[in-house]
Amino acid sequence: MPPSLYASPYRTHSCGELRSSDAGREARLSGWVHRRRDQGGLIFIDLRDRHGITQIVIDKADSADAHEQASRVRTEFVVAVAGLVAKRLPGTENRRLATGEIELQATALTILNESKTPPFYVNEPDAPIDEALRLKYRYIDLRREPMAQRLLLRSRLVQAIRAAHHDAGFVEVETPNLIKATPEGARDFLVPSRLQPGNVYALPQSPQQLKQLLMVAGVDRYFQIARCFRDEDLRGDRQPEFTQLDLEMSFVDEDAVMSFVEAMIVEVSRSTVPDRPLLRVPFPRLTHAAALDRYGSDKPDLRFGMELVNLAPELTDAGGSPTSGFRVFDEALAAGGAVKAIVAPGLGGASRRELDELTEAARRHGAGGLAHLAVESEGSIKGPIVKFLGDDRAEQLVSAAGASPGDLVLVVADTEKVTNEVLGKLRAELGTRLSLVDENVLSYAWITRFPMYEWDAENERWHATHNPFSGVLPEDEELLVTATGDPYRPSPRDPAGKARAMQYDVVLNGWELGGGSVRIWRRDLLERSFALQGQSAQAMREKFGAILDAFDYGAPPHGGIAIGIDRWAALLSNQTNIREVMAFPKTQSGGDLMLEAPSPPEPEQLAELGLRFVGVKAPPGAPPEPVA
Ligand code: ASP
Repeated sequence: MPPSLYASPYRTHSCGELRSSDAGREARLSGWVHRRRDQGGLIFIDLRDRHGITQIVIDKADSADAHEQASRVRTEFVVAVAGLVAKRLPGTENRRLATGEIELQATALTILNESKTPPFYVNEPDAPIDEALRLKYRYIDLRREPMAQRLLLRSRLVQAIRAAHHDAGFVEVETPNLIKATPEGARDFLVPSRLQPGNVYALPQSPQQLKQLLMVAGVDRYFQIARCFRDEDLRGDRQPEFTQLDLEMSFVDEDAVMSFVEAMIVEVSRSTVPDRPLLRVPFPRLTHAAALDRYGSDKPDLRFGMELVNLAPELTDAGGSPTSGFRVFDEALAAGGAVKAIVAPGLGGASRRELDELTEAARRHGAGGLAHLAVESEGSIKGPIVKFLGDDRAEQLVSAAGASPGDLVLVVADTEKVTNEVLGKLRAELGTRLSLVDENVLSYAWITRFPMYEWDAENERWHATHNPFSGVLPEDEELLVTATGDPYRPSPRDPAGKARAMQYDVVLNGWELGGGSVRIWRRDLLERSFALQGQSAQAMREKFGAILDAFDYGAPPHGGIAIGIDRWAALLSNQTNIREVMAFPKTQSGGDLMLEAPSPPEPEQLAELGLRFVGVKAPPGAPPEPVA
């Protein structure tokens, strides 16, 4: 038998390797004491490392010395044991352990290191633990089985990503972290320069400009597991630093990028989580407009139906005038808004309280109210609005919505945007609440044809909906102009507001997993797009000089995407919070509870950088006087 991969002077095997075929051999193991049971003459230890658990038995009659040592150990002590591998007695095997058919009958036990009583139990994976405590003692938290499994999953994910890219001719290139601001719409983290006092570096929000410059450099296909930094207010799924799979390809159109990325995602998903089925391959493709119209979201969860239904045709006459008889619906339609519905299966018997809760949720999401039609089990339709609509119209609406006896039809009447958004959020909530989703399934989809820009009224400029470098659909290129003709004077009336981007997002189970685009690769067009985005000629030079200049030296057509690795790993391990798949994440306020960062700098460090704090409340523990 070949020696174990893990063999060293401390061990012949890992704690997860010995099998009944090893019975009769001498072995030595090292690890942590997961559990200890003292039965007087016999002491049992479950010895753990990240590979598994092996049961150790120490018999006082065999080895008084080892028994004496074993009686001193406590949970989480680090010990080395040596002895004979033996088959367990019939009926005492442990089927939950890969090593469950054997035990190690130890004749020697050495305590390598002691441990204080840990702040929480490593051997109770389901016990609730305060997250702050987990973060402070992350090195203990990571010993817990669920965390260890997630770290391993993430490692497999990244390995599969690397393999898929190398197989497809990509070059892995590292780009620097000390750079000049590359805007992705968030605040930059700045790093003061000691050698050039008064100047700062920005940490990359993404390697966007660098990867485009690599295309100009002829790299052809680039990828990187890239760390990105964005100084944003943190929400559940945000961290100030996070990891992206960043890639860029030359001589491609949207289809070429999407085809590679889709094949890569399929391959990576199958090898990382082989037990989880992919709902649909090829991935469904929806335009941004269709996604909003049908699901009320640009990241729809396609694991269940419950599509939004437009009720306007049932509520208007042949000339398009509203005729419902219910004021709220008529007013919304007369104002050019929408009346749409979703059907909650089986909720027809919802109580007053449940209906109030749904209405409350709709209000919270921005609607003025929520109308409903409950289809009773024998088919009659109930709801306060029936008396306005009349029985016939109520029936028409229920049938247009596709509701069956026992279902509940929920209706929102508002502007199209609000109607879609509110129903989209209610849909997502009901999908989970009514258990309409199979948690095991992976449902990937593409969303395409995003608008290039949104009007930013405060700054009087167009704001790129995704990426300031995104390309425009060739047929929309002529729309990248202003109404006034002056490229530096954008206004909400500009044709540019109608332009669609060569932008694609990939979504997974209702979450945005990543996004990318085919880029603008001509200098004149990029300058036009930047001008619409409110950049003066001088600002463009200062912020984007390198890429604009590079485009004068032969830039190939190119495009790419970035996919959030943290989010991907979280979804593949059925977690909703990316902290659960990060080894050392930060808290909501950006703190590292283990290292106690951020922390006040040493006065000498500030002096060297030529900095001092002014006008800020000193953080706790900061030097009392600002250093001059
Ligand atoms: N750089 C973009 C981002 O970080 C992704 C891309 O367009 O490739 O979101």
